[in-house]
Amino acid sequence: MTINLPIGRLYTYDNLTMPIEVVNGRKGGPRLFVSAAIHGDELNGVEIIRRLLRHSALQRLRGTLIAVPVVNVHGLLHRSRYLPDRRDLNRSFPGSSRGSLAGRIADLFMREIVANCTHGIDLHTGAVHRENLPHIRANLDDPATLELARAFGVPVLLNSDLRDGSLREAAMEAGIPMLLYEGGEALRFHEVSIRAGLRGVLHVMRVLGMLPASRRHAHVVKPVVARSSSWVRAPESGVLRLQATLGTRVRKGDVMGVIAAPLIDRDCRVEAPFSGILIAHTHLPLVHEGEALFHLARFGSNAAVAGQVEALQEMLVPTLPEDEVI
Ligand SMILES: [Zn+2]
Repeated sequence: MTINLPIGRLYTYDNLTMPIEVVNGRKGGPRLFVSAAIHGDELNGVEIIRRLLRHSALQRLRGTLIAVPVVNVHGLLHRSRYLPDRRDLNRSFPGSSRGSLAGRIADLFMREIVANCTHGIDLHTGAVHRENLPHIRANLDDPATLELARAFGVPVLLNSDLRDGSLREAAMEAGIPMLLYEGGEALRFHEVSIRAGLRGVLHVMRVLGMLPASRRHAHVVKPVVARSSSWVRAPESGVLRLQATLGTRVRKGDVMGVIAAPLIDRDCRVEAPFSGILIAHTHLPLVHEGEALFHLARFGSNAAVAGQVEALQEMLVPTLPEDEVI
């Protein structure tokens, strides 16, 4: 069943709607929402939801799946992360019916979607020119959320209990366990991230009892849990050459990239300020001093993430038909 939720009028007097697909199982069960493009330029989740809705596994659904492929319709139209009032929708929750445009859409989403669900997954990517390693951000201190995060099957779980006005925070406040999935970069389809996301959503639905257990041997990646993360910034301006790849474990002092000027024979090394795993980096070689280049996650122990990343990538090589991704 498709619902076109009215979200107001454009200044052209065209009515704008948020398309929502509700899939009811034959039997009752949890009610899961899966949302994407709350940042309007983050597209992998739009494709993850398209594949999810045509996946054969849904024929045996229990409970209800509420899929919202584009939450920030204004942003998608403008190929922008933000709303036309330049607010970040994912910093505007829980919102209010008399607030800003972002606040009103957040409020509508809380009333129409979150209030009708028992669990949620929100799909994101890195920013423009920045690629994220597939990972989950969630409040891992909550046991129910931790169980879902582990089931998702990505190599890294990042504990995050920020009070940041995000959908995730508002849903948690409403007592709804929620995962935020990150993978790939804005304005691009990244096949491995799409497959990892689709597979993760299906795994979570199995753990919730919404789908029957797989008959196939489940290759679940055993994730490592990071308690915090930091961006490493450019010490000076110039042209960046990357020397580390996503998922790499670096030690304090390791060189992750080198900044140089095109015609000057002088290199500036960008070193890891602490030991960790590289979970995001810029793809744009042109950098100004102070720009965020590398996102490093900290781990309590020396974890073998690199092997897990390799295992995940091998498992998701884009030669399998979409339906085989489970
Ligand atoms: Zn995002």
